[in-house]
Amino acid sequence: MLTDTLPRATASRALTGRVALVTGSTSGIGLGIARALAAGGAAVVLNGFGRPEDVAEAEAAIAADFGVPVSFSPADMSDPAAIEAMIEGTLDRYGRLDILVNNAGIQHVAPVTEFPPAKWDQILAINLSSAFHTIRHAVPAMRAGGFGRIVNIASAHGLVASPYKSAYVAAKHGVIGLTKAVALEVAEEPITCNAVCPGYVATPLVEKQIDQQAAAHGISRERVVREVLLAQQPNKRFASVEEIGALVMFLAGEAASSITGAALAVDGGWTAH
Ligand code: NAD
Repeated sequence: MLTDTLPRATASRALTGRVALVTGSTSGIGLGIARALAAGGAAVVLNGFGRPEDVAEAEAAIAADFGVPVSFSPADMSDPAAIEAMIEGTLDRYGRLDILVNNAGIQHVAPVTEFPPAKWDQILAINLSSAFHTIRHAVPAMRAGGFGRIVNIASAHGLVASPYKSAYVAAKHGVIGLTKAVALEVAEEPITCNAVCPGYVATPLVEKQIDQQAAAHGISRERVVREVLLAQQPNKRFASVEEIGALVMFLAGEAASSITGAALAVDGGWTAH
C-alpha cells in the first residue's frame, strides 16, 4: 500500500513533548502561531491582554482541538520583571522551554515631529526590548533541555521603511539585528534564532491601522487597503495567520536545524522591490 511508504511519525505531531511560549497570543498572528504549534503537539503558554472570558475561551479551544496542555500568562511585555516571572512560571509548570516566539507588538502612526515620546518608548519596549528579556531568560533553559527554537516576529518593516512609523520600523529593524546576534552566539548549540517578516496580515492590528490611515489621509477604508496598505505588496492580498503559523511550525521542527540568523519574508513580494 502507498501509505506503507510514509514516515511513521507524521509531521503533524512532530512537536509532541515540546513546550512553546508565544508572546502576544491572545489574538491575531500570535494566536494563529500558538494554534499551529499546538496542532503540532506542543504544550503552549499563551500571553497577552484581553478579556478573561475571551482568554479562557482561546485556552479551552486549543486544549479541546489539539489535546495539549495550555496555560496563560498575563505578563506585560513592557515590564522586564513580569517577563522574568513568566519564563520562571513556564519552567516551574512544565520543566522545560523549547520554543520561544516573540510576537507581542503594537503600532502607532504619526510624523516623527509629532510622535509622542512616551509612545516611542512603549513601542521600543514591547516590540524590541521584550524579545531581549525573553531570550536572555529562555536560552539557559533551552541549553538545559538540549533544544531551542527562537522565532521573532519582525515585519517587512524590519527590512524596509514606510513613513509615519518611525518607532515601529526602528524596533523591527532592531529585532532583526537581535536575531542575527543571538543566532551567532548559539550557532554551535542545538538552538536556532530566526525572524519572520510578514507583510500585511489580516488581524486586529491591521484593522486599527486602516482606521488611523483613513483619518491621516482623509480617504475611505477601501482606498487605504488598496492604495496605502497594499500599495507596496505586489500580490495584493493580506496573508493569513495560518500561513505565518505554518512557517513558525516549520522553523520549530528538526528540518529547520540549519536555518538560523535568517529574516524570512512572508510579504507577497514587497521586499523584492
Ligand atoms: P494584534 O493586535 O492582533 O495582537 C497583538 C498581541 O500582542 C495581542 O495578543 C495583545 O494582547 C498583545 N500585546 C500587546 N501589548 C502587549 C503587552 N504590553 N504585553 C503583552 N502582550 C501584549 O496584532 P497582530 O497583527 O497579530 O501582530 C502580532 C505581531 O505581528 C506584532 O509584533 C506585529 O508587529 C507583527 N506584524 C503584524 C503584521 C500584520 O499585518 N498584522 C505584519 C507584520 C508584522
